[in-house]
Amino acid sequence: MDRDVIIVGAGPTGLTLANLLAAAGIRSTVYEAKSAPDTRMRAIGVTPPSLEILDRCDLGTALTRHGVAVRRAEVYGDRRLLGTVSFDSIRSDYPFILSLPQFRIEQSLREAAKASKLVRLNYGVEVVAVEPAASSSANGGARPGVTVRLRDGRSVNAPFACVCSGTAGLRPFPLKRRRHYRRSFLIGDYPDTGKLGDVARLYFSRNGSVESFPLPDGMRRWIVQLTGRASQTVLDDATVSAMLTTYVNMRAGIRLPAGLPHWWSRFRPGRHELAYFARSGLFALGDVAHSMSPIGGQGMNTGIADAELAADLIAGWQSGPNGRADTGESPLGDVGSGLRMYETVRRKAARSAARRAAASMFIGTIGGVAGSALRNALLRAALTFIPGRAIASHFAMLTLPGHRSPISLTADTISSRPK
Ligand SMILES: Cc1cc2nc3c(=O)[nH]c(=O)nc-3n(C[C@H](O)[C@H](O)[C@H](O)COP(=O)(O)OP(=O)(O)OC[C@H]3O[C@@H](n4cnc5c(N)ncnc54)[C@H](O)[C@@H]3O)c2cc1C
Repeated sequence: MDRDVIIVGAGPTGLTLANLLAAAGIRSTVYEAKSAPDTRMRAIGVTPPSLEILDRCDLGTALTRHGVAVRRAEVYGDRRLLGTVSFDSIRSDYPFILSLPQFRIEQSLREAAKASKLVRLNYGVEVVAVEPAASSSANGGARPGVTVRLRDGRSVNAPFACVCSGTAGLRPFPLKRRRHYRRSFLIGDYPDTGKLGDVARLYFSRNGSVESFPLPDGMRRWIVQLTGRASQTVLDDATVSAMLTTYVNMRAGIRLPAGLPHWWSRFRPGRHELAYFARSGLFALGDVAHSMSPIGGQGMNTGIADAELAADLIAGWQSGPNGRADTGESPLGDVGSGLRMYETVRRKAARSAARRAAASMFIGTIGGVAGSALRNALLRAALTFIPGRAIASHFAMLTLPGHRSPISLTADTISSRPK
């Protein structure tokens, strides 16, 4: 059996995992179905726990040099300021949300992986199946081992396979639940001609929501809720431009620059969860295991936290003192109990993040005169009376269960991270 850990998918989750494993001295082979890296903007918010995790492979601080540190958010209700959230007081080395497009994050992760002798990156190689190897026991107990089958007919045996294949990719386990929300949003990235600076702005109105975030290179993201017929309309560039301009002006009183957005995307959020997150030497990480509404910006960050715990467990089994993947012995306990720990910790974290994302989305999209007035009054009260640090820590994902791995791994010690 090859000792490399197999990683399926080179999105942010898979690439983070490869780098964390390399930092722990573990070899991995990454298979990515696409022949070239993804260039879509997609996620932009990297939370403080994610930056701390990425620091374990020397990437947290490096990323901050490319992005915009968002230290403050302003919340408006029917165009009147309801309150502000300041991230300055949160307890982290990174007291801000880093705004950096997903493709740039992936680019940094990919470059670090390519520079490592311990990561083998393979683009244009699709994995068609992952299954427990014949010698592996059913619950992943004493002898882990998986077989990974590739589209080109090859198959590879490995001690562990970590499937990070996103919402539309290979699914290692059956679905447990799936839900589609009846909300629809349009994203447009424009030059920041309004000089709104590095402040995030949330505009809630009786007609729908608008969210706006700074991006690097003088750009700004606008996310508008589509309501009524607009949510069903077939979109072309001209319609997108007209919709974004109209909705932002109507709900936020801000004029967008003329012309097409630099990048746009319409999305209808959903949520799903797999029946298992870890079993028989197989891990499911990131969007393949759990997806959630992008409103609230937690999907990518939850995948990064999945990667931290999976990397710690695998490092404990593969390279820790007395760690023996072939026997399943490790100071962390046997493989079966580690897989159960991953299952419990990461499912709780994913559910909590998905609930928060859904709550943010529902609160922001309450429409109508009465509903909007009530929401605005409650938000004003919350932003006035709840301590600022508590609100900021919530949005920075610092209060999310399992936002950091419960295991503390160093070269010489493997133990539970102090609570
Ligand atoms: C418009 C939008 C805005 C978002 N904003 C935010 C945000 O601000 N903050 C945030 O945290 N999240 C956000 N998200 C969510 C975020 O983009 C996802 O959570 C993130 O991409 C998940 O990363 P991943 O690595 O798990 O999956 P993906 O990024 O989907 O990567 C999976 C990779 O696996 C590959 N793959 C699939 N199947 C196979 C196979 N069989 N063999 C080999 N390779 C395979 C795919 O080609 C892909 O490259 C947003 C999403 C969208 C759509």
